[in-house]
Amino acid sequence: MKFCVDTNEKNSWYIGTNDYGSKMINKFETVMFQGNGYMGMRAVAEEKQLHEQRDMFISGTFDAFPNEVTELPNLPDLINLEIKIDGQPLCLKDGYVENYHKSLNLKNGELTRTFDWIINNKAVHFNYRRFISMHDKHLFVSQVEVSSAQDELNVQLSSGIDGRQSNDESQHLMEGDKRLYDGQYIQMQAETQQSHIDFVFNVRHKIYVDEVLLGDKPYINMSRRQIFGNYNVDLQAGQTLTFIKYANVYTSIDQDADPNKLTDDSVAALKRASLSNYNELLQKSDRVWNHNIWQKNYVQIDSEDEKPQVAINFARYQLAANTPLDPRMNIGAKGITGEGYKGHTFWDTEIFMLPYYTFTMPDVAKNLLTYRYLGLQGAHKKAQGNNYQGAQFPWEAADPTDGETAPLWGSADIVTGKPMKIWSGFIEQHVTSDIVIAIMDYLHATGDQVFADDMGYEIILDAAKFWSSRLEYNEERDVYEINDVIGPDEYKEHVDNNAFTNYTARWCIQKAIKVYNLIKEENPELYLKLSNKLNLETTYESWINQVNRIYVPQPNIEGVIPEDDQYLSLKNVDVSKFQVNDQISTIFKTYNLLQINQMQITKQADVLLLIYLFENMFDDNIKQSNWNYYEPRTTHDSSLSQSIHSILASDLGLNDEAYKFYEMSCETDLGIHIGKAIRGLHMAACGGLWNMTVEGFGGVRIDNGKLRIEPHLPASWNSLKYQINWQGSTVRVGIDGEKMLVRVIGDGIEFVSYGREYQVPANGSLEIEVPVEETVTD
Ligand code: BGC
Ligand code: BGC
Repeated sequence: MKFCVDTNEKNSWYIGTNDYGSKMINKFETVMFQGNGYMGMRAVAEEKQLHEQRDMFISGTFDAFPNEVTELPNLPDLINLEIKIDGQPLCLKDGYVENYHKSLNLKNGELTRTFDWIINNKAVHFNYRRFISMHDKHLFVSQVEVSSAQDELNVQLSSGIDGRQSNDESQHLMEGDKRLYDGQYIQMQAETQQSHIDFVFNVRHKIYVDEVLLGDKPYINMSRRQIFGNYNVDLQAGQTLTFIKYANVYTSIDQDADPNKLTDDSVAALKRASLSNYNELLQKSDRVWNHNIWQKNYVQIDSEDEKPQVAINFARYQLAANTPLDPRMNIGAKGITGEGYKGHTFWDTEIFMLPYYTFTMPDVAKNLLTYRYLGLQGAHKKAQGNNYQGAQFPWEAADPTDGETAPLWGSADIVTGKPMKIWSGFIEQHVTSDIVIAIMDYLHATGDQVFADDMGYEIILDAAKFWSSRLEYNEERDVYEINDVIGPDEYKEHVDNNAFTNYTARWCIQKAIKVYNLIKEENPELYLKLSNKLNLETTYESWINQVNRIYVPQPNIEGVIPEDDQYLSLKNVDVSKFQVNDQISTIFKTYNLLQINQMQITKQADVLLLIYLFENMFDDNIKQSNWNYYEPRTTHDSSLSQSIHSILASDLGLNDEAYKFYEMSCETDLGIHIGKAIRGLHMAACGGLWNMTVEGFGGVRIDNGKLRIEPHLPASWNSLKYQINWQGSTVRVGIDGEKMLVRVIGDGIEFVSYGREYQVPANGSLEIEVPVEETVTD
């Protein structure tokens, strides 16, 4: 595996680089992103740089321009700090730079940057540190130390709030008041122009020379959308100037703030925070990282190469940094790390990220699913707009009540030169089933009956109601079909009977029938409530009429499940030249989507995803035949593809393939390819990293509602240890080549392994032999 960042074999929480100002600038900004789920900042330098992409977002604060889809506004920048040495602005392109080093501590999200700048024959040492607090979600703290061993320096600093940020030059914020409190606290207010969310930003600085606090009030300058404090300090040789910036952000949609008192309360909060120094505040944040995250999702890989451990640390760090803990919000496909996909949430959450949360932090999983419950209104709106019933969940989601937020137009078509219409928002419909899949997994893993009764069952019933209205009766064949869709493979538009869509829709209706009967029998009160709300009697009748006649594509004589009605009769082309991991979507340089639609080319796991999710429906021969058929036809142009291929390969005993796809997936963001990750991280690949590690190699799966653990340890790993949560108990699993140790903290659990059932007593442990696998390569 090749990473763009350096790693350290002694410290798997470290990623760093000695490279500055290179072509990798945007990639490093993304990879070293800092966030706490509420607030997120790209890892730009404090001083402005050419080609930088300076973004800061607050989760859930969507805003839209007329005729555009809603997006997260890029907020006023708090990182900025311009320094002049003897009047010369710090710019790494001037003078010489030595000992440059930038790194991110994945354990607590602290970003550091140190270097010596040689300018006008003076060597000046800079040491920057900054973090976004996990303890106080509104708080951002940064510190810089400036010194010169040999020379006197005049240091000018200018730092504050810079509202001249935009989303690709579009300005979402209306400028509000700018103020100064107590001569020290700088404040800027702003409001989104359409969604009318108020923001308050505050900054306060403290400045020390060799530990002595300077009392000087800043010279303030305010201009349009900017307010800065300016300082001027003379330093003796050997003295160190320490400059601390305390900043916070509050919004009128914060759950923990009074929207009518934002300006005063936020200043008061910053006053309290600034009583502590940088290290004290970092320690508080550090403790919360440990307590809320690392203690819950332990994963330890013992291998010669430190990169697998770095990769899993990176993935868990980024998931924590990008997951809002407010159920009105969800994780964007790119989190809050960049402008890509406008902060929107996709099925990426349910299929790729929820397994991790369900198994390690069920309360977070519950929040993320509650978001879909709050989205029922938007899902009804979408269904009605398309003349369907029930809940048709949006392909892209922002504020849960918005309904569909997918854009209509994409980039230019290489053949016609016209913008390509984006069909996903209209016809990529499987997301409604994906949500039900995640709910069922959550219910099995947690046994959370309260969630089931309050929200889960209703979503399942309402989703099945949609599918029932969506089915099209084909009189000739006496079956129900689903025509004109996009399946997970987005390189096939307007197809009929996409296997993934049809199987999962049928499964959804089957689940709804079960839920209906269950609540009717066991919870008449809930039954009555939902029956009235969803008109269940009539809907149930349709389900019963339809369910056994829903057409699901069967394997052909070679055991291949047709991806859709058209796929197998399309032209075969050599896809291998497009299966390159250094760039994505190279295929569009050769063909347009219309042409790709006519060829057996698959963007990402589709039939294979179905097989991974519903493994019991298909025997090993079918699995292998479909692997043999589809993998060579798949470009893996979506980062959602590799993790599924890795897990499936593990299941099939294709250990080399499993590791190959694992490595490719690790390289999605951390790899050396510049093109990837510029406009944000691939959050589903982060979730996929945990899935490959714990579900694929660790062998954890929910099988008919039961926990199954069947590990497939990679040949280059000596052992793998991980922790999951199963129905309220903590389960620690340790696997080496031959043995698996399962230890339980809490109530006893049952699990299945290689066809046998095991029980581990409360607070007990159990060791079992694991079959040693022969490596099979195809
Ligand atoms: C994605 C679609 C998405 C569209 C617009 C495409 O790149 O593949 O899933 O809906 O962008 O955001
Ligand atoms: C993929 C979709 C995915 C979206 C957001 C697209 O490229 O094809 O499956 O949901 O990206 O990650």
